[in-house]
Amino acid sequence: MRFVIKFGGVPVKDGKSIRKAAELIVDRYKKRDQLVVVTSAMAGVTDELATIASKLVEPRANPKQLIPEFMKRISDKHFEACRGAIADKDVLYQTTRTVRGALDNLQRVLTGVSYLGELSPRSQDLVLSFGERLSAPILAGAIGSLGVSSKHLTGFEAGILTDDRHTEARPLLEKTRKLVHRRLNKILAAGEVPVVTGFIAGTKDGTVTTLGRGGSDYTASILGASLGVDEIWIMTDVDGIMTADPKAEPNARVIEVISYLEATELAYFGAKVLHPKMIEPAMEFDIPVRVRNAFKLEREGTLIVRKPKRIEGIVKVITTSKNVSLVTVGGAGMIGAPGVAATVFDILGRAGIKVLMISQSSSQANISFAVDRKQLDAALRALRTEFAKRRIDWSITCDRNASVIATVGAGMKGTPGVAARVFNMMGRNRINILMIAQGSSELNISFAISERDAIKAVRALHDEFRLGIGR
Ligand code: ASP
Ligand code: MG
Repeated sequence: MRFVIKFGGVPVKDGKSIRKAAELIVDRYKKRDQLVVVTSAMAGVTDELATIASKLVEPRANPKQLIPEFMKRISDKHFEACRGAIADKDVLYQTTRTVRGALDNLQRVLTGVSYLGELSPRSQDLVLSFGERLSAPILAGAIGSLGVSSKHLTGFEAGILTDDRHTEARPLLEKTRKLVHRRLNKILAAGEVPVVTGFIAGTKDGTVTTLGRGGSDYTASILGASLGVDEIWIMTDVDGIMTADPKAEPNARVIEVISYLEATELAYFGAKVLHPKMIEPAMEFDIPVRVRNAFKLEREGTLIVRKPKRIEGIVKVITTSKNVSLVTVGGAGMIGAPGVAATVFDILGRAGIKVLMISQSSSQANISFAVDRKQLDAALRALRTEFAKRRIDWSITCDRNASVIATVGAGMKGTPGVAARVFNMMGRNRINILMIAQGSSELNISFAISERDAIKAVRALHDEFRLGIGR
């Protein structure tokens, strides 16, 4: 069989884990599977790169201290991983050299950023790309050390071309497919295992781009779709997609099978297991995706396919998005005024605010929407400034501490009474609902409540729809 296997940051968090990942790959290779491996950066590294880059452009930054400190930490981490993952002396020597080269490069880039004193999206992409550029050679080395020839390459070298929307670049799919097909098949035909950096790609002229945070999943599905593989495996540190966040609901259990559409819905609604864009390429070519625990290979994980054979209940998952804020734009002046929604969302769009959920009352006296709490102040600022400029007198109010709960499941479509059950439960638990939305896909009902009620709400719904262990 042909697979793309993607390892997330935690499954490659240190030398020992990388060695385990390599053992899994070699095991499958010996069973005559053809494998394309995609890797994330070692856990935490991308965040650290983002932090150092933004520190370096602060007005009173001290790069002479910051850069060496950071370089020491990041170098130690990767050299240690090399030693932990690679037993063969020659391979270790070669890999360490490659890693050292990438680190030298990173140091030059950071120095450049600190001289410029500014961090454009383009430079940001370049800095963040080093996480995967450091992890991929180590994983390839670990495979090589076990006697299977492996070659590391960047997403760009593998053939992923994108537009130049830095930090959220979009792949040019047709060109990408052709290139990936040609380049990776050549490596596979030679009996080698390609290890591709997740997350990073490049424009036609070779400038480094990234596919958005968490984008390694997306890399895996772009490659899988381009090659027409049998399955895409997303190796992570949880057992699969769960019926609820186990931190909120101890009875949460792993879902066996779920549809592409449900999985997409979940990815948007806060279940952080998958990147929201990753389903699309897989769905287009009907490639099953499996989410599995890299540390517990005896478990099957969650399978994502077009049409699960057995429909498992009406509601499958209860998700919670924490750290949400609600904003309401209202006022008598809005009633009957055309283009209210267009005005509001145009302003937000221009300010780069991601809107998580929208609802408008049919009286049109107000529009509410939910945003990530980190973006609340920017959203309020943008609306106030623009309203003042355009002499609009709509009022703006907000609710800082909210959570969005969503019930997701294909079985909800056309089943009457689901909303009634959901809101009944909230009523019985004395949970006040601040805002409601149902996607017209009917795959989810979502609503916002005060953050302090979130856990109670999840448990009540998890129970009501019998999602727990021993249902
Ligand atoms: N390393 C990148 C990130 O942390 C991409 C990924 O892990 O999927 O966002
Ligand atoms: Mg990830």
